Amino acid sequence: MNLSQRVKKLKPYVPGEQPQDRKYLKLNTNENPYPPSPQVKKFLESLDPDRLRLYPDPAAVKLREKIGEKYGLKKEQVFVSNGSDEALSFCFYAFFDNLNGRLLFPEVTYSFYPVYCDYYGIEYEKIPLAGDLAIPVEEFVKRKGSCGLVLANPNAPTGTYLLPKDIRYLLENYPPEKPVVIDEAYIEFGGESAAPLLRDHKNLLLVSTFSKSLSLAGLRLGFVMAAKELIDALTTVKDSFNSYPISTLAQEIGEIALSDRSYYQSINSKIVSARESFSSDLGKLGWTVIPSKANFVFARKGGVPGKEIYLKLKERGILVRHFDGEKIRDFVRITIGTHEDMERLIHELKSIF
Ligand code: PMP
Repeated sequence: MNLSQRVKKLKPYVPGEQPQDRKYLKLNTNENPYPPSPQVKKFLESLDPDRLRLYPDPAAVKLREKIGEKYGLKKEQVFVSNGSDEALSFCFYAFFDNLNGRLLFPEVTYSFYPVYCDYYGIEYEKIPLAGDLAIPVEEFVKRKGSCGLVLANPNAPTGTYLLPKDIRYLLENYPPEKPVVIDEAYIEFGGESAAPLLRDHKNLLLVSTFSKSLSLAGLRLGFVMAAKELIDALTTVKDSFNSYPISTLAQEIGEIALSDRSYYQSINSKIVSARESFSSDLGKLGWTVIPSKANFVFARKGGVPGKEIYLKLKERGILVRHFDGEKIRDFVRITIGTHEDMERLIHELKSIF
């Protein structure tokens, strides 16, 4: 069969396993261990299927208003997408090309970024991390001849976090006409969104998701907050690709979830407390744990390859994630589940290592 030259060259991103063969304790894809808001259940139970006969609102106005309400923004400053991966992909398409230099991102970060670069033919430069895996902001601002930058904050898979003052420093010292994308997928687990900086920085884009802190990974909903000019560019990309990426259900469930802030505060604070006690328990077992502000930790046990940890836990019905990158192959990334989940993991680790 004739395939396009384009598709032959693609090297796709490989997501974490979603095995169907047996029941695992899934600590490998940063899903939330708690169910979505009870209001979501109520809505689904009372849904009239006739509503699915019609197309959804292509502009998802109410959902964008609802997101805007949370962050003090107008709907014109909000874009919604089918998962934040789609939003990221549209950002790469809309804002980066090599006429303005190479794109910058950290050497260890979300491994979808280089995949989008290859997909759209964008050359990039990876910025080395500091010894403690922290992101060295000064290294980014030195490279003013780049076409923009992408950072995950907290970073994935390391969990390290940049304070708002670090993001401000970055924005104040990087060319104001070059887009800066901050991927805040994990910001609600103890970090602080850079949303207040949007007022003064028209080149800032914040990408976020309903998959982690809102416990809706299966719904596929993401969003971007930025100045209207940038949101308009993303809308142009979307309308050249798919008019209806956000289903009726996703739009409505998204609104409902955003309305139940107290429920989400309560489940996410349990995750934060489980992360802190799990990190300390791991430390006591002689593991090195990178301090995390996400719903996962990146950790290693000296002398044991990450792959071995992953395989031994898998045998015992627990999935964690291992990445085979040069600087990170000794680590595993462990999603934070409930307190009970983490106690079970600690129990297994004690018996294996
Ligand atoms: N950004 C980061 C840093 C992630 O780890 C993920 C999840 N793999 C995403 C974005 C995408 O999440 P989603 O498409 O579910 O919104």
